[in-house]
Amino acid sequence: MATATSTPTTDRLSSYNPATGEVVGTVAVHTPAEVDAAVARARVAAQAWGALSFEARGEELTAFRKAIAAHADELAELLHRENGKPELEAYVEVMMALGHVQHAAARAESAMAPKKVSAGMLANFRATISYHPLGVVGVIGPWNYPLYTPMGSIAYALAAGNAVVFKPSELTPLVAVKLAEIAAKTFALPNLLQVVTGAGATGAALAKSAVNKIAFTGSAGTGKRVMMAAAERLTPVLLELGGKDPMIVADDADLEKAAEACVYGALTNAGQACISVERVYVADAVHDRFVDEVVKQVRALKVGGDDGDLGAMTSTAQVAIVKDHLEDAIAKGAKVLTGGPGAISGNYIQPTVLTEVDHRMKVMSDETFGPVIPIKRVDSLDEAVKLANDSTYGLGSTVFAGKAARSIAARLRAGMTSVNSVMGFAGIPSLPFGGIGDSGFGRIHGDEGIREFTRVKSTAEQVMSIPMNMMSFRQPKDMTKRLKGMIKQLYGDGVIAKAGDLFRRLR
Ligand code: NAD
Repeated sequence: MATATSTPTTDRLSSYNPATGEVVGTVAVHTPAEVDAAVARARVAAQAWGALSFEARGEELTAFRKAIAAHADELAELLHRENGKPELEAYVEVMMALGHVQHAAARAESAMAPKKVSAGMLANFRATISYHPLGVVGVIGPWNYPLYTPMGSIAYALAAGNAVVFKPSELTPLVAVKLAEIAAKTFALPNLLQVVTGAGATGAALAKSAVNKIAFTGSAGTGKRVMMAAAERLTPVLLELGGKDPMIVADDADLEKAAEACVYGALTNAGQACISVERVYVADAVHDRFVDEVVKQVRALKVGGDDGDLGAMTSTAQVAIVKDHLEDAIAKGAKVLTGGPGAISGNYIQPTVLTEVDHRMKVMSDETFGPVIPIKRVDSLDEAVKLANDSTYGLGSTVFAGKAARSIAARLRAGMTSVNSVMGFAGIPSLPFGGIGDSGFGRIHGDEGIREFTRVKSTAEQVMSIPMNMMSFRQPKDMTKRLKGMIKQLYGDGVIAKAGDLFRRLR
């Protein structure tokens, strides 16, 4: 059974299509007892799964990947109907999720390979670092990328040898239930990937449960609550939170390409991406031309319909936030070049371009999470970098520039930067993904994303005896004197390169 069902639950949760308001389906609201039961079942699965070889797990994960690919149409259809995103974007999401299943399975063995490290002063030791599965990982996911985002934790946690209990967003639970069904049919072990459904209370129960790690993706506010709940058992947490990603356009950038990247980066998924371009800083010399190009490209986009460029916003609550940010910006002097609060109809928002913006405005400081492009003119690249770094968030960032591109990128306080492209880091599975500050901590994707779901073990093995054994009370009478000499030789002026040389001298 894919979903937690140990104690029958009477409550149901409806998932709505934000484009039409129709009910797409209903799911159970799992109670804390049901969540605990799912974690207990996962514990059994984890013991068997963690004991398998990398090769055996790799084969199972390959079968899982193929099964997901075989159900791509159903998953994309659910993504389209539950989240509101256009069909094309739904398929892009399925494809990117598959890329991570493949990558995590392929990389697990080398990412977790034991490492021999220098034993330093204890030259007669063999020092090894090894990586082991944690056990059960709880994954709590958001609604904006209901498959791709949690898969960044699920695939890597499974590949590292853990079982997973996944709590999807209450706005998009059906995609997750489908994924769990696919898992249940594919994996030889039962309960390796289970889904528990419900709203915040179900997520809170998972955060408080006996999982060995919580991987949370969502807002900073909820992230703090998850961390507090996990603190009860000292359960480690990985937090993938929101962002206010800046884009910098220098005067020697390819303006057409920069505008194209800006429009896509700000408006894909109707701007509901944690790594959306949320604010743009453009060099004075090219500002007007860049703005004209952005407005031209934005006006050519189609909003709504199965084949639209932008779909419906996933929730009316998110529409209200975007409207509030636009009204706040306009009240403080922003200029609307296209779109605007008057161009909001139900859950559809016409993409909006703003100029004359500044950091007093919510649209430049808080996560808007909607199809809005606020563009600010800057006098220098130093000013652009200063403003880009003026945020409590630090997730993604984008630089379009000529010769200074790399040096600008290096100065940005962010977990990830795309240079002369947008969101490039999210499409490269070997690059770790995550943020700093209010954007959270820990990493998914890449080898770091695999090791994030492991415990690190250090082993020190004495391979030969030497005359001086520091880990003993049996020391020569003049040991204190010798130690004084050692301190000077090893760490003072009389530096000796190798501990072995020192031992020979002190013999
Ligand atoms: P949210 O914080 O409202 O909810 C996220 C999940 O937490 C949902 O499953 C929800 O049911 C659950 N939840 C709510 N209260 C809880 C509690 N007290 N304890 C445990 N779980 C609880 O976020 P959202 O609105 O679903 O997602 C949008 C946010 O996610 C944005 O801020 C976005 O930037 C961020 N996000 C970040 C990344 C990333 O990788 N950094 C990716 C996608 C989205």
